[in-house]
Amino acid sequence: MRAVLLRGIEDVTVTDVPDPQLAGPGLLLRVETCAVCGTDVKMFHHGYAAARLPLVPGHELAATIERIEGSFPGLREGMRVAVAPNIPCGVCHFCRRGEQTACDRLETIGVHRNGGFAEYLVLPAQAVTEGCVFPIPVGVANEEAALIDPASCVVNACELSRMKPGDTVVVLGAGPAGCLSIEVSRAFGAMKTILVQRSRRRLEQASFATPSVSVDSSAEDAVVRVREETGDRGADVVIVACGSAEAQEQAVQMVAKRGSVNLFGGLPKGSPSPRLDANLIHYKESFLVGTHGGSNRHCGIALGMIADGRIRAKEYVSRRMPLSDYRAALGVAEEKSGLKVFVSPRPLL
Ligand SMILES: [Zn+2]
Ligand SMILES: [Zn+2]
Repeated sequence: MRAVLLRGIEDVTVTDVPDPQLAGPGLLLRVETCAVCGTDVKMFHHGYAAARLPLVPGHELAATIERIEGSFPGLREGMRVAVAPNIPCGVCHFCRRGEQTACDRLETIGVHRNGGFAEYLVLPAQAVTEGCVFPIPVGVANEEAALIDPASCVVNACELSRMKPGDTVVVLGAGPAGCLSIEVSRAFGAMKTILVQRSRRRLEQASFATPSVSVDSSAEDAVVRVREETGDRGADVVIVACGSAEAQEQAVQMVAKRGSVNLFGGLPKGSPSPRLDANLIHYKESFLVGTHGGSNRHCGIALGMIADGRIRAKEYVSRRMPLSDYRAALGVAEEKSGLKVFVSPRPLL
């Protein structure tokens, strides 16, 4: 089959590899589409400590079940499925507490094992029994379903940020994670959502997510504006959906007393850490939390929001490219001119 093969830092090719085989119980999936994620770009340029090379990357995928080995109630061959990419071990301390993103032996598709930038991939039985496979509801397109992974991270972020109905939520960064943060916050009951972004063009591109207020931080002071928009109180939740230490510093200034700051975006390798005003956190009794992924449960919630339109998944599809153009697709994702780039091993219609 044709597959993307990552061999090392900035060493990637689209090549023929042996067809993956089911060696025991599990699923053989025919990939329909797989979206490029920031993690794929990061792995390409800087490597990834956890990645097992050579590797077929790709973890935001939708597929058709080609073959089933073993008995998995609810699944049948020919069924379209979305895949939660983080396979938990199911038995560690954190898994037993239902905190699968903290699993000690998390196995991520497209990082620890071959992923979706290929014609086929094999899912082990563990992925099915741990609830990583979701039949795609009628009316939900494959590309929309492939959004469950990034959306699940945002659902987890809203939970970890202790978001409540009636909250005012500020989102810093209007990329895919930022737009999802606006939509998911509203689904969590946020009364007012404020989207902050340095580029007017990107802010306009995010208008489909209909934040209550859009702030172009290249033209005005975002901290001052958030104070004005909240009666000087600050925001109940600030989600930093970009990899900027400066944004993290601003978030601590914007948050209300007893509010939460979520460091959702990781900082680029080697970039300086933020100078957080610890006394602000101390006196405001605010909460500082991070989020790096979503669990299967969060993926299920995300799929529900996609199916009922609370997440307008179609709006995130900016580009479609063939598998053979994978290297170019990474470039497009990196330019940040759109939201998500989808790569398909099937002929593009
Ligand atoms: Zn991802
Ligand atoms: Zn575990």
